[in-house]
Amino acid sequence: MDVNQDVDVTVVGAGPVGLVLAAELALAGATVQVLERRAEPDEAMKAGAINVPTAEALDRRGLLPAAEQVQRELLSPPDDGRRAPESRFTGHFAGMVLDPDRVDWSDPDLAAHTAVAGARWVPQRELEALLADHVVRLGIPVRRGVGVTALDDTGDGVLVGTTAGPVRTGWLVGCDGGRSTVRRLAGIDFPGTAPELTGHLAVVDIADPSMLASGWVWSTRGAYRYGPQPGRVVTVEFDGPPADRSVPVTLEEVQTSLRRVSGTDVTVTALRGAATRWTDNARQAAAYRSGRVLLAGDAAHVHSPFGGQGLNLGVGDAMNLGWKLGGVAAGWAPEGLLDTYDAERRPLGAWVLDWTRAQTGVMRGDAPSAALREVVGDLLSTREGATYAVKKISGVTQCIDLPGGHPLVGRFAPDLWLGDGSRLADHGHGGGFLLLDRTPGGVFARRAAPWAGRVSSVTDDRATPTGVLVRPDGVVAWASDATDPAAVTDLEAVLRQWAGAPSASPLLHRR
Ligand SMILES: Cc1cc2nc3c(=O)[nH]c(=O)nc-3n(C[C@H](O)[C@H](O)[C@H](O)COP(=O)(O)OP(=O)(O)OC[C@H]3O[C@@H](n4cnc5c(N)ncnc54)[C@H](O)[C@@H]3O)c2cc1C
Repeated sequence: MDVNQDVDVTVVGAGPVGLVLAAELALAGATVQVLERRAEPDEAMKAGAINVPTAEALDRRGLLPAAEQVQRELLSPPDDGRRAPESRFTGHFAGMVLDPDRVDWSDPDLAAHTAVAGARWVPQRELEALLADHVVRLGIPVRRGVGVTALDDTGDGVLVGTTAGPVRTGWLVGCDGGRSTVRRLAGIDFPGTAPELTGHLAVVDIADPSMLASGWVWSTRGAYRYGPQPGRVVTVEFDGPPADRSVPVTLEEVQTSLRRVSGTDVTVTALRGAATRWTDNARQAAAYRSGRVLLAGDAAHVHSPFGGQGLNLGVGDAMNLGWKLGGVAAGWAPEGLLDTYDAERRPLGAWVLDWTRAQTGVMRGDAPSAALREVVGDLLSTREGATYAVKKISGVTQCIDLPGGHPLVGRFAPDLWLGDGSRLADHGHGGGFLLLDRTPGGVFARRAAPWAGRVSSVTDDRATPTGVLVRPDGVVAWASDATDPAAVTDLEAVLRQWAGAPSASPLLHRR
């Protein structure tokens, strides 16, 4: 038997979300294993880019240089004369690519997160590879070729049936994709809206590329996009969902779809790598937790890939859940911490579903949708419209409703540069809470000292904010521009709320 018989948390699925989650659980002190039914990583083309919170999550764990290297290789000039992707990443809304020259990059939300701008074009396959290396470095076992088939939540743990035999685990997290077995076995509802389209993504060789226009092109059947990376083709057809999503996509299928939406008889001569077929099913789990079973990533929400949100949403789930469940498993979490996972993440998931539904509405081939496209296109070509959309797509405006009067609270920590030339994010590679203390006598750091195993203090001599407490997922839990006793008392209350009772025992005491 290859699978661990007694582990704090078993993560089902070694996609991007399962890998991030496993790493965060381990950094929070839990013992963890990953079960993945595929013998080898999935080679299908999916996400092509990451958003700001995902890039910042990589940054916080020291993985940014590897992501930047991926982007450098991707952006090296193509050999067939086609345009390489724009290095200043903006994204698109319903195929309307946002012009970087119209965006107000001095907008405070955008300007607060510039340090990760060098790593946005990071395709999913390469991201998964660098996350898999990270997981291996943390010593987490990933058991490939092991599928989960049954579960029984006994109240004090979960008995899991797998293709390699039974497993007992404290907690089970389904990161097993949109057709999640864990979600079904846990009896969690998955309400939402029905699909109405079939999309394809492929990298192809084309005999007569001059037949295709570059950029997004619409017709009454749907839309296609050729480029900007060499040979990359996306088609969207509003003729219902695919009949069978499990059969591999063939060259003929891509060519037929491309011919239909482009109205040409273009010839595809080769498929480079595995193509993908998708639809716009938009559904969200009615709850992200049922007893000792939790969901994250596509297992918790599915929607069309328009605007590139799914992977990023799932990585955000994993960052949010990892330290909380890890803290529960390792025994340091305060009461109710795990409940905040659903409360903080489901509203954002619901927003993403609507963001993608809005794009479906604008992309249909009918006359009202075409008219709506004109209106939305006009708005997005204004400075305000382009800035609004880029802020939404990039994730820089994401925030959680947390108590506390400081404007940073509930937002992802901005790029805070320290007097020694480092950034606050440079100090978070090992996980845990980060406390930035800029008071002359280090009063905040002294008050946090009893939490030394969970909270790392960084002192600095710059002015404001005078103190910032960043949770392990990068969200600011507390911030102050003052140094008075009230601020110190406030910090202590927030530490108790998120990091539990004071204890100098290290986060990693279980490993
Ligand atoms: C064409 C396309 C383009 C996309 N573009 C973007 C984009 O630009 N930006 C973006 O953010 N997102 C994008 N997405 C969405 C993104 O690919 C998904 O959101 C992401 O893969 C979700 O990751 P995950 O880890 O939750 O699930 P998955 O990647 O689906 O991984 C789930 C894993 O669980 C395993 N598994 C399943 N069942 C079991 C079981 N019973 N036992 C054990 N293992 C199991 C699977 O084998 C798989 O490895 C795109 C998707 C598609 C299809």
